[in-house]
Amino acid sequence: MEKYSEMSREQLLALKKELDQQYADIKAQGLALDMSRGKPGTDQLDLSMGMMQVLADGAELKCETGVDCRNYGVIDGIPEAKRLLGEISEVDPEHIIIYGNSSLNVMFDSIARSMTHGVMGNTPWSKLDKVKFLCPVPGYDRHFKITEFFGIEMINVPMTPEGPDMDMVEKLVSEDPAIKGIWCVPKYSNPQGYTYSARTVQRFANLKPAAPDFRIYWDNAYSVHHLYDEDQDFLLEILTECAKAGNPDIVYKFTSTSKISFPGSGIAAVAASKANLEDFRKYMQIQTIGHDKLNQLRHVRFFKNLEGVHEHMRKHANIIRPKFELVLDILNKELGGLGIGQWTTPKGGYFISFDSMKGCAKNIVAKAKEAGVVMTGAGATYPYGKDPEDSNIRIAPTFPSMEELEKAAYVFVVCVKLASVEKLLG
Ligand code: PLP
Repeated sequence: MEKYSEMSREQLLALKKELDQQYADIKAQGLALDMSRGKPGTDQLDLSMGMMQVLADGAELKCETGVDCRNYGVIDGIPEAKRLLGEISEVDPEHIIIYGNSSLNVMFDSIARSMTHGVMGNTPWSKLDKVKFLCPVPGYDRHFKITEFFGIEMINVPMTPEGPDMDMVEKLVSEDPAIKGIWCVPKYSNPQGYTYSARTVQRFANLKPAAPDFRIYWDNAYSVHHLYDEDQDFLLEILTECAKAGNPDIVYKFTSTSKISFPGSGIAAVAASKANLEDFRKYMQIQTIGHDKLNQLRHVRFFKNLEGVHEHMRKHANIIRPKFELVLDILNKELGGLGIGQWTTPKGGYFISFDSMKGCAKNIVAKAKEAGVVMTGAGATYPYGKDPEDSNIRIAPTFPSMEELEKAAYVFVVCVKLASVEKLLG
């Protein structure tokens, strides 16, 4: 394979002619495919349909403390749900609050609460001149949208395969009291699929922030979402590390069963120090009389315990592993050695991250769209939708069928090649 950057202008022009023809042929097919959505496929959702039966006619609808789950009561989660989500989160149930159907919602609320009421008695952020958040990039667009919504200034921190650049995080956090938080997806990160190393987790736990109300927003959305049984990433448990470091209040750990059971109809939870959970509870008590306990009961009866969750996640993996492998295979075969892109090879999570040559991502996504393939918008993985290098594209392989995915991946590689040739020709 010859690198595009080493080709002569004549070679590039000849290649462009060939690619233009391939692109025209693709467009003529009138495709309508989607590689943008980080959603489970229908067959994955089918795996949890047994949950519809566990509360069917005649089932006991009381939780283990005898509370009727059909009625009001038990604001922060039934004990068995705390135990299950505690196991998934690797923390003791007494450090868990069970919420409603969305962890993103809890993250939004945590920022809203910090804005209006402050963190553990500190000045509400809305009364400060400036509030800033660190944003490891590329990252999850919906995190960035929350901080943007509240007018919080976002600072990009580059990601590495070990996690965020910790030299930069330590320096910024220790020097600037306006920095109140950092967004983290520590395991099988969105979009790169990276897992923070033990050293990174320890450095997080030992941060010495200038702001007493600085919090790590540890969004462990993909904690049990492995693709392989025998080759899994391991993440050090952050609450334990923070306690060991004498920093027990520095972290909020979020989780949900969205991509375990049903996205939008799962259970969300927060794990944190008892002092932090008091803050959460004060707010929650005013906000609601309680979350959906029948859904909590349904989840516990269906999964039973962590082993039940792992067994279930193996079934998910059996469905999505071939999809990841298909896309990676096409990227390797079609783009390997050309020097026009690099991509991650995750062992879990929901995404593959692709980096094109600088200045090509928008053009690639636009070309794919014109050819009938929707990708996540270029720039979406950066705060304010601005990728300074215009190179990152998030690939979401789970939702389309294998057949659709194969077609979509071919369209994508042709668009990458064409956009790269155009860039080199200037
Ligand atoms: N956090 C991350 C990193 C995600 O990728 C997603 C969904 O894609 C969510 C949170 C959403 O979680 P929930 O459905 O619990 O709001």
